[in-house]
Amino acid sequence: MLTGEISIVRRVYLDNNATTPLAPEVFEAMKPYLLEDFGNASSIHWFGQRAKNAVEKARQQVARLLNARPSEVIFSSGGTESDNASIFGIVQAARVATPHIITSGIEHHAVLNTAQALEKRGVSVTYVGVGASGVVDPEDVKRAIRPETVLISIMYANNEIGTIQPLDEIGGIAREHDIYFHTDAVQSVGKIPVDVEKLGVDLLSLSAHKFNGPKGVGATYIRKGTILKPLLYGGHHERDRRPGTENVPGIVGLGMAAELALAHLEEAAQRVAGLRDRLERGILERVPQVSVNGDPARRLPTTSNLCFDYVEGEGFVIAMDLRGIACSTGAACSSGSVEPSHVLSAIGRTPEQARSSIRLSLGRYNTAEDIAATLETLPAVVERLRSLSPRWGQGFREQGIGNRE
Ligand code: PLP
Repeated sequence: MLTGEISIVRRVYLDNNATTPLAPEVFEAMKPYLLEDFGNASSIHWFGQRAKNAVEKARQQVARLLNARPSEVIFSSGGTESDNASIFGIVQAARVATPHIITSGIEHHAVLNTAQALEKRGVSVTYVGVGASGVVDPEDVKRAIRPETVLISIMYANNEIGTIQPLDEIGGIAREHDIYFHTDAVQSVGKIPVDVEKLGVDLLSLSAHKFNGPKGVGATYIRKGTILKPLLYGGHHERDRRPGTENVPGIVGLGMAAELALAHLEEAAQRVAGLRDRLERGILERVPQVSVNGDPARRLPTTSNLCFDYVEGEGFVIAMDLRGIACSTGAACSSGSVEPSHVLSAIGRTPEQARSSIRLSLGRYNTAEDIAATLETLPAVVERLRSLSPRWGQGFREQGIGNRE
């Protein structure tokens, strides 16, 4: 069917792990700092003090969400910077001739590529694997520890399949061995409870745009007493941890997004998980040969990653988009590349299964109508794509299910 032939009645956004819409309350909170309250937070005059007070209020709002002290929250440009600053920062400050770090094979590229850059500088890295569930075994982390290990970095929840890692156990191991522990919590903050004390982390990365805040702003939680070198050199902003004039409107937006998330955390998680489960159940009932990627219980309430046998993922995303439904083949950052997802490969999916996998990710603003519209559209899209695949008919014959040709 041609693009022009399809009239889109409504648009449904199911790509909230890529980014989320800005909450109207966040926009309202930011507006004055884009207009009349434009001061530089380092200036001593009235304009500067207005900006500084707003930044400090946001620091408290973020700290409250994490159960941290405000002085332990350092604003950044987002998850990528916080991941880089945490990992480079610890390694560069370590007093070890050949430092060693431990991470997992399913991290976001903001961590994986940082680890690889360090490897080129002589740092050794252990990438612990995951089983079919997509969960890191804390015993594997323990076994990987060496006398030179300076950092363990394991993400809290995976961006592609949503699996939640046993951070409290890994945090206990890190503490026992006196090793710094960082987590990339970009997909978890604002969606599930994140308590730095319970998790036992020393460093944590978060990003505002993943929980209805603005893009290009985030924060690094740095436990008091943690010794790390800054990534950037400049002025004395952010307690000498991160130089550069503060992005005041962005930081105010992050603070408001944190406050909103904290106020609605439990109720939103339950509601979104209910919608996700209804969507997933509905698909499994209506479409044959679909399987769930990763642990179906131990995962973010927002995320469903499904493998549709004999469906080419990119074609599916385009066909759904033409019908008004936005979803993704995996991490947004890797779309355009034909490589199968490293996360799906790590959980044992074949390249073909990985390329047939779709991520549906929900957020605070999704409704029951969105789920109904998706369930109405998706089965026909899958059927059409499969009917175009010569391997679909062949696969059915081989399995004796019936002739689809
Ligand atoms: N870490 C994870 C797990 C992510 O999902 C993302 C974004 O997709 C990032 C890091 C990067 O965050 P940002 O977009 O704020 O740089």
